[in-house]
Amino acid sequence: MIGWKRKRLLLDHKEEGRRSACHRKEMKIEIDQEMKLFTVGPAQMYPHTVAVRNQVVPYFRTPEFSEMMLENEKFIKKFADAKEDAKVIFLTSPGSGAMEATVMNCFDKRDRVLVISGGTFGERFEQICAIHGIPYEGLKLKPDEKLTGAHFQKYENRDFTALLVNLHETYTGQLYDIELIRDFCERNHLYLIVDAISTFLCDEYHMEKYHIDATIISSQKGLCLAPGLSVVILSDKIVRQKVLEHSVQSLYFNFKEYLLNMKRGQTPFTPAVGICFELYDMLRHIEIQGIERRLEEVKTRCNYFRGKIGNLPIHLPSYPLSNAISPIRFEKDIAVDMFRYLKDKKKMMVNPVGGELGKRSIRVSHIGDLKLEDYDALTDELKLFLSKY
Ligand SMILES: *Cc1c(COP(=O)(O)O)cnc(C)c1O
Repeated sequence: MIGWKRKRLLLDHKEEGRRSACHRKEMKIEIDQEMKLFTVGPAQMYPHTVAVRNQVVPYFRTPEFSEMMLENEKFIKKFADAKEDAKVIFLTSPGSGAMEATVMNCFDKRDRVLVISGGTFGERFEQICAIHGIPYEGLKLKPDEKLTGAHFQKYENRDFTALLVNLHETYTGQLYDIELIRDFCERNHLYLIVDAISTFLCDEYHMEKYHIDATIISSQKGLCLAPGLSVVILSDKIVRQKVLEHSVQSLYFNFKEYLLNMKRGQTPFTPAVGICFELYDMLRHIEIQGIERRLEEVKTRCNYFRGKIGNLPIHLPSYPLSNAISPIRFEKDIAVDMFRYLKDKKKMMVNPVGGELGKRSIRVSHIGDLKLEDYDALTDELKLFLSKY
């Protein structure tokens, strides 16, 4: 008996120890509120978003929540410049989940899709097609290669049914020419699927004008919300001809269920309720401000920063760029040290770049709650750092 009690006591002590170790750890991973995010997602959040996040998450199977979601649908369509009969799907997933869901719900082995593959996000579309057994070809671009009309020549008059593109390939920063892509799709009668995750609310975007059949958006980029909510806007054409005709092998990612539920402002499963509120708050802010002014703000920060770095030993790629980020390149392999210096010493978080490109490149974002003074401070640090190398 005594032995048992002692053992129990020892266990209690151990448990106590574990708990305080946990506690110590928790202290260490507190979010550094001083850190400025020059990153494209999560981006520097606006105070009004933080205020919404600070509220208790409510129950959602209510007429009030439905009404808010229908408003979200209306605003999203408006800002994407979508047709009146376009349909919106709200998914609780990161952007990649929405990319996969869209491909799964629209295409199968009878299709043949062309993927513009100019970086890691283009490769992700290829990977999704491979996993789901959808025949595809990648239009491969080299790291510094600009997409031009010539690239499309060998793909004309073939048996493709769709084109998939990350309109802003965030890995390289290239913003592809949407008119070029639209014209190719028109000539060849292809569905056009656009991952607009890092260009929506950063650059102009017109779903109807460019005959886009699906637009994929994620909460943590141009919307500057918490990650976890993705939105897919579908043209009526692709809903009727593809989504409704299709039997998709998935419980969670079955768009038919989402379309049905969204008629009354609901989702088939529990959505990221808190982020749906952040979304409503953000869309209303943009509605009041005006989408043009919102885009103008991003452009102003972008041009200001690019102007300031003009005489530093830095260059930008020569292909067209999004206003969302400046993918700056150095002449030496200093990007990793630079990233660490800015983060650890100056509390400035820039986007590192993975892979080979990452040794000489960092990306600076122009979305979120950033002021021109923030770019002054960042440029001063870049200047100082570069003068030492
Ligand atoms: C960020 C991003 C995604 C999605 O990333 P997740 O981490 O899955 O949210 C997809 N495409 C592009 C172009 C992006 O910039």
